[in-house]
Amino acid sequence: MEKIFNGKVAIVTGGSFGIGRATAVAFASRGAKVVVADWVEDKDQQTMKMIKASGGEAIFIKCDVSDSSDVKSMTEKTISTYGRIDFAFNNAGIEGATANTHECTEENWDKTIGINLKGVWLCMKYEISYMLKQGKGSIVNCASVAGLIGLVGLPVYVASKHGVIGLTKTAALENAKQGIRINGVCPGVIKTSMVDRITGKDKEAEKKFIGMEPVGRMGHPEEVAEAVVWLCSDAASFVTGHALSVDGGWIAG
Ligand code: NAP
Repeated sequence: MEKIFNGKVAIVTGGSFGIGRATAVAFASRGAKVVVADWVEDKDQQTMKMIKASGGEAIFIKCDVSDSSDVKSMTEKTISTYGRIDFAFNNAGIEGATANTHECTEENWDKTIGINLKGVWLCMKYEISYMLKQGKGSIVNCASVAGLIGLVGLPVYVASKHGVIGLTKTAALENAKQGIRINGVCPGVIKTSMVDRITGKDKEAEKKFIGMEPVGRMGHPEEVAEAVVWLCSDAASFVTGHALSVDGGWIAG
């Protein structure tokens, strides 16, 4: 793998599992030093092991993205350890409880918005502050196809992901002249523990999910990771404020 990110530093939130893990590994394989931030330390430390096994460098920082003091100290520790923040993938998220709009509880609303939307804002708040001092940086926020269309039974998740796209566009405009590019990714159905939780690994439920994908299969976390890495790279130097679907064609339908 070409080390296009040698000397660069990348933060990945929600990096212990799923799309975050694949992206942390993808950054490291290109030479970036990676900060794996997650609210629970995976007891097997699989992400850290995968990065170190391939000769990469990473640290784990425990951080709940919905907690401002955690996010502040996570970014401060990144600077004190590696001296800079070049890239950030603000990816940590939850699906929330399934319930139609009128049945959704206040607790579900506050928790899901707190992690998926406030969490992305808090991360950008501190990341952008450092990137402005550096005069350069690239941020990718994890939205979803649920940021582009409605989905029955997931009103809070959909609202949070639409919010992530609006926030991404606004932050991109605010920082476009300062050398900071800010984009979003909108994954379709990606085979991770989040989808396993929703389907309960039930074959019929999985078939229903696959049926929403024009390509006829679920995506792999690595396929989202490649899009994130491209958006962060200089190859995407004229791309900012964009929400990139990585969705097997779902949104085209
Ligand atoms: P995942 O496998 O559940 O991974 C999410 C990671 O984020 C987990 O390590 C989780 O920790 C962590 N996390 C959750 N809340 C956190 C918090 N408050 N602070 C820090 N870390 C936290 O899910 P995934 O499928 O990879 O999802 C990653 C992102 O992609 C999410 O934003 C999700 O909405 C988005 N997405 C996923 C799909 C899909 O089909 N999988 C589709 C569209 C968008 P725990 O496991 O310990 O909770």
